[in-house]
Amino acid sequence: MALGLGSTGARTYLYAELVEIGEIATRDDVSLLVVSLDTNPFFWSTFSLSFSDFISHVLAFLNSILLLSQLNQVVVIATGCNSCAYIYDSSVDSSHGSDTSGMPALYSNLLRKLEEFVARDEQLGKAQMQGATASSLLSGSLSMALCYIQRVFRSGPLHPQPRILCLQGSPDGPEQYVAIMNSIFSAQRSTVPIDSCYIGSNNSAFLQQASYITGGIYYRPPQLDGLFQYLSMVFATDLHSRAFLRLPKSVGVDFRASCFCHKQTIDMGYVCSVCLSIFCEHHQKCSTCGKYIPKFCPAYRGDKHNGNALG
Ligand SMILES: [Zn+2]
Ligand SMILES: [Zn+2]
Repeated sequence: MALGLGSTGARTYLYAELVEIGEIATRDDVSLLVVSLDTNPFFWSTFSLSFSDFISHVLAFLNSILLLSQLNQVVVIATGCNSCAYIYDSSVDSSHGSDTSGMPALYSNLLRKLEEFVARDEQLGKAQMQGATASSLLSGSLSMALCYIQRVFRSGPLHPQPRILCLQGSPDGPEQYVAIMNSIFSAQRSTVPIDSCYIGSNNSAFLQQASYITGGIYYRPPQLDGLFQYLSMVFATDLHSRAFLRLPKSVGVDFRASCFCHKQTIDMGYVCSVCLSIFCEHHQKCSTCGKYIPKFCPAYRGDKHNGNALG
């Protein structure tokens, strides 16, 4: 790990550029942090911590990531209940200084985009008139995060170490089960850890599985007054340094799945022997692969504290 950086002038260089011009040797502690930020108004209107307090903790945390290394990169994706959008990318943020109000550029740019996003997401909710959905669109933001990371992977052999951080409070949306599991397995295949900071009242089974399968950290802060402390102590650590630290271990993972027919979380169910689709009741024909199956496989058992989801 080379920590010293030569003078690179006023311009901010990308990681690959600095390696190319010989400013740095290859480094293993440079992070690309893609954050999924839960903006679901249905959650925040009923939660004990206000959204503005939450954002102030998160902004300080994101700023500290950028201060840790000049080469660190932060991307923020807002996760609403109807849509998701990129609201901040430190690599394209041209104004690195303070603006006229004395607020760092990170804060003012991100807050402006966030405000626009929340208004747009609310409009979409009104237009669709589907009624209140309690969950936020986590599957969408995970997909967007993975797309961004894939683009970084394809930019060349030299890139920062990517990881995803889900800052989530809304309850799981069982209807997103298949999409979220696909994202999780895609992240696992690309060796991208998904860290989860879940602040809701009950644990999130989706995020527990996401962090467990991808080798990330799942943590539920016990006191939200000190959210910044938890974020900076647990989630600011780069992948290289994690090997030397004693970070929180997950005490148990809720492996329950959602059935493909009604999108409801189930403890017991039936598994198609061809495509492994899960159903809460017996079907003559699998709705996923279309095969007629005279007899379904033995029941699926979603077990807590058990690594085998299919048993
Ligand atoms: Zn069902
Ligand atoms: Zn099937």
